Amino acid sequence: MSERKTEADSGSRSALAERPELLARVHAFGAANAHLVRDLVSLRAAQFDAGLAWVYFPEGRGGLGLPRGVQAEVDVVLADYGIPAPTIAGNPIGVGMAAPTLLAFASGEHCDRYLKRIFTGEDIWCQLFSEPSNGSDVAGVATRATRTAGGWIVNGQKVWTSFAHLASFGLLLVRTDPNLPKHRGLSYFVLDMSSPGVEVRPLFQISGDSQFNEVFLTDVFVPDDAMLGGVGDGWAVATATLMNERVALGGAGAQRMAEPLLSALDAAENSCSPVEFAVYQDQVARLWIESEAFVSTMERVARAAAAGEPGPEGSIGKLWGTEIQQRIAALELELTSRWCVGMPEGYPLTRSSPADYGGSPAKRYLRSRGFTIEGGTSEINRNIVGERVLGLPPDLRVDKNVPWNEIPR
Ligand SMILES: Cc1cc2nc3c(=O)[nH]c(=O)nc-3n(C[C@H](O)[C@H](O)[C@H](O)COP(=O)(O)OP(=O)(O)OC[C@H]3O[C@@H](n4cnc5c(N)ncnc54)[C@H](O)[C@@H]3O)c2cc1C
Repeated sequence: MSERKTEADSGSRSALAERPELLARVHAFGAANAHLVRDLVSLRAAQFDAGLAWVYFPEGRGGLGLPRGVQAEVDVVLADYGIPAPTIAGNPIGVGMAAPTLLAFASGEHCDRYLKRIFTGEDIWCQLFSEPSNGSDVAGVATRATRTAGGWIVNGQKVWTSFAHLASFGLLLVRTDPNLPKHRGLSYFVLDMSSPGVEVRPLFQISGDSQFNEVFLTDVFVPDDAMLGGVGDGWAVATATLMNERVALGGAGAQRMAEPLLSALDAAENSCSPVEFAVYQDQVARLWIESEAFVSTMERVARAAAAGEPGPEGSIGKLWGTEIQQRIAALELELTSRWCVGMPEGYPLTRSSPADYGGSPAKRYLRSRGFTIEGGTSEINRNIVGERVLGLPPDLRVDKNVPWNEIPR
């Protein structure tokens, strides 16, 4: 097995080929651990310890301090040993958002406690930002944390909290000082979801699935050492989370949905006229090319980004990727069922896992409607790209320097 040559070995510009010691290390890991493939938790734990989980993270934190792009090549070599590439699908908020936020802002002790179990999937994470009146305006959150001995007491309500019903921990944004302007009075905690006073209630999506929830927080005690950043630093920490979220949601998407389009085209061949089929072929080719261009662009963005520090460019991926995915889902539905959104009898409501993005074209189409809302709507991402990437004049902000408790609501 160690003699085996892979694409990564032979590519002349391959980062692994330029690092023979690393390449040997990856082969050695693959050979020694391939037998664990039926026990993914143990396999991922070993991968984390070997620094091959996220090679762009520091040593001891699942990585080796290497450029982000090296990870894809490591994954190709390991796939040759039957070890599947890790995806964010099983724990999207943990892997895509919590891990880089923790790396950037948490203590070494926190990183030791949380990172490995995020990678192994033992701890699912959720994001407790949005509230009934504060979605796009995240900085306006009203959930209050007040001081008590050894920590804080939290009261408030969050909404649209994906996977809260499965999560061990949540990324919690709260207001610690209502007398300051909205961006300055926020703090950020890791919330243990099993804390007394945390109540999770399901919300159902149009597809009948329930991936998200309302979360009610009543006199929840959060210890001081659960804070990421300092008191009042919540906006800076939340911004890091949101930028990573946009990269995760945008970058992960197009690959996820382009495949079904090809099988849908095959299926449509027998049910439409040659002229119709030629039109569909053209539409599929255009979307396929666009999604491939998108994936290549996002790979370049990922290579350029240092661990935990993507910039506002992530919004381009979120905006572009999710809108392509919606068009792919719509075309797939048209090809397979001529726009008929058939649902199982009884419209059964089901609690869903993170990896479940819809088992049918109809479910995928319905789920895709949320893609341009979650993680910041397309309008908000257009504002970010306009202001922070293109340098256009900013959106109107009438509440900029006004104390949060004096803003009319
Ligand atoms: C499937 C799904 C999963 C989600 N998961 C999570 C989660 O896990 N955790 C979490 O915290 N949140 C989550 N959300 C919530 C999501 O982040 C919010 O729905 C989103 O930020 C929009 O907020 P809102 O729903 O309050 O809409 P609003 O902010 O009320 O916006 C309503 C409309 O106004 C537009 N708008 C608002 N402000 C502006 C502006 N300044 N300029 C131009 N247009 C504007 C918006 O684009 C939108 O079209 C999820 C949402 C969905 C759909």
